[in-house]
Amino acid sequence: MRLPEWIRKDLNIRNGHLSGGSHSTRGLLRRHGLSSVCEEGRCPNSAACFAKPVAAFMILGNVCTRDCAFCAVDSGVPSVVDPSEPERIADAAAEMGLRHVVVTSVTRDDLPDGGASHFAAVIRAIRQRLPNAGVETLIPDFKGDINAIKTVLDAGPDVFNHNMETVRRLYPEIRPAAVYNRSLQVLGLAHEINPAIAVKSGFMLGLGETTEEADDLLTDIRDTGCDTLTIGQYLRPTKKNHPVVEYINPAVFEALGRRAMELGFGFVASAPLVRSSMNAEEMYRKRIQGSVFSNQNKALE
Ligand code: SF4
Repeated sequence: MRLPEWIRKDLNIRNGHLSGGSHSTRGLLRRHGLSSVCEEGRCPNSAACFAKPVAAFMILGNVCTRDCAFCAVDSGVPSVVDPSEPERIADAAAEMGLRHVVVTSVTRDDLPDGGASHFAAVIRAIRQRLPNAGVETLIPDFKGDINAIKTVLDAGPDVFNHNMETVRRLYPEIRPAAVYNRSLQVLGLAHEINPAIAVKSGFMLGLGETTEEADDLLTDIRDTGCDTLTIGQYLRPTKKNHPVVEYINPAVFEALGRRAMELGFGFVASAPLVRSSMNAEEMYRKRIQGSVFSNQNKALE
């Protein structure tokens, strides 16, 4: 399906005036031997983000043990965990001058703790190198393992993020190795174990969900204690991925964003090109200022 006007326009605005920064960020990541979910996930915003520069680091290799229908990351036999990666992330983040560092990973169902101890090592390395920077971890579900969740929380990220991605009915088709209730439980456990750490989640529209199902998902996420949310349009990254079922009108994103604020979410970004790590720093800064954030009242940069 052709991209609708509102997405093409936004992409052109976003990518229209890019400096060379985007290329140098790619170069920097390569020099440090690092991956980003921006590139592996084929994010439509990567050029604009890299030009800032911001990037979401992807740890534990770039081969996932799962095969979600919406995701461009390669699936298969993952690589050996590299103990030097935490230092390299901290070095790259310092070189980029990041004030808020986002770290995510492929899912490593092959590791006893799912990679939680490696996440903790990355958080500590960043804290040591950039003591004033915010640290946000976008984690897989660790198969709901409470000890793995505790391992990450004990390392003290500022934001603990786990995406729900889609509505309950579509899990078998879109996210077959994940379990809807288990992902909700991950959010709930994080909030219970350490309420001082911000809990964040996100999902996509355009995969065939109904507005009612999206509203149920909103309330389910809010009931976990999560108060930070991103909602964006699913875009098909490659031909092997699930087709777009529908391009959702921006007005629906606005309505869902307002509904989320009514439900008590304090930090909401809801618009077609919103992605998990977009506005991450802004949301975090608003939080520590004690105010709220909604991109409905702020043009997306
Ligand atoms: S678990 Fe994450 S990285 Fe792996 S295929 Fe699914 S979305 Fe992609």
